[in-house]
Amino acid sequence: MDKRTAVYPGSFDPITYGHINLVERAAERFDKIYVSVMNNMQKYYLFDLDERVKMTKQNLSHIPNIEVNSFSGLLVQYCKKNQIYTVLRGLRAVTDFEYELQMANGNRSLFPELEIFFLMADVAHSFISSSMVKEVSKHGGDVSTWVPPNVEDALNKKFNKH
Ligand code: ADP
Repeated sequence: MDKRTAVYPGSFDPITYGHINLVERAAERFDKIYVSVMNNMQKYYLFDLDERVKMTKQNLSHIPNIEVNSFSGLLVQYCKKNQIYTVLRGLRAVTDFEYELQMANGNRSLFPELEIFFLMADVAHSFISSSMVKEVSKHGGDVSTWVPPNVEDALNKKFNKH
């Protein structure tokens, strides 16, 4: 079993400084991390898969031991297929807990060899969420301290600003 590789799955719609901080910290503890952009047909995304992958890649290019890819379908199927046994997720507040607990137990019920590792969001980024970024940007608020410049530009384009 490869114990040095982990996957960090998420929507990354769009990637924020919170996600980036989590990957930077996790990359210090694992040899290889796949940052995997999920495409779930039932979910509505602001950015399509290509846009999310591109922005995620651009903003993690400074970390050598990560690779950005994408998948659709079940996380456990993706992990089994690629022989990945460790999943990374972030916890920001108690509100994340219930959802993450259900997902972790559901996934482990389907694939018992899988372990889900949680990193606490660091204090400075713990309130940042992609949904808040989108909501604030849509209404003309300044999100420049929450997302990198190219993400801010992409949001401005989406919401027809400038
Ligand atoms: P999902 O739709 O799977 O929740 P997200 O892109 O919203 O995808 O989040 C992916 C992971 O990143 C989740 O584990 C989430 O808790 C974590 N995360 C999101 N924002 C932050 C943040 N500001 N700090 C740390 N972790 C975060």
